[in-house]
Amino acid sequence: MKYVVKVERKRNLVEVISNLGGEGVSKCIQCGSCMSVCPVTLVGFDYPNKKLFKFVQMGEEDPLLSDPSPWACVACGRCIEVCSQDVNPFSVYFALRRLQVRGFRIHPLAKEAVGSIYESGHAIFVDNSEEREKFGLPEVSSAAKSKKDLNEIREILRSSDISDLGILPR
Ligand code: SF4
Ligand code: SF4
Repeated sequence: MKYVVKVERKRNLVEVISNLGGEGVSKCIQCGSCMSVCPVTLVGFDYPNKKLFKFVQMGEEDPLLSDPSPWACVACGRCIEVCSQDVNPFSVYFALRRLQVRGFRIHPLAKEAVGSIYESGHAIFVDNSEEREKFGLPEVSSAAKSKKDLNEIREILRSSDISDLGILPR
């Protein structure tokens, strides 16, 4: 009976994450390639992509709800390019964010990220335009530099479910 319950939980969690946008999670073979190129891992954060994907496959929900790392993803898309199994780790990470929000597990890192998106249009924003100019690189467009885009982002946040969580800056 215990085994049946465990199998049912496992099936459910893969299904839940798939329905939240992380359809590829069941295909992960734990090769670690995504972690080897992830900039968050490269700067020294403990960013256990593949471990979290294993928890999903095993039906272990608790560690998924308490892990802040999905909020550190900077959406660079590198992991998508190197994954030979078409998991799309980036999408699984965003599905994990949704899982946490649904469980009202709002980590301080998430609040910080949402606050930064509201203020600058980016979860993490570093203005490096001076350095780019110094090296003759073209300017990169950013919502942080466009009042119109920023207002649009704020309007989207205010009219989304996220505003019900009370974490938007006042
Ligand atoms: S690269 Fe793909 S298969 Fe390999 S650990 Fe990452 S998600 Fe899993
Ligand atoms: S998209 Fe996110 S998880 Fe993937 S490599 Fe970039 S920062 Fe890491």
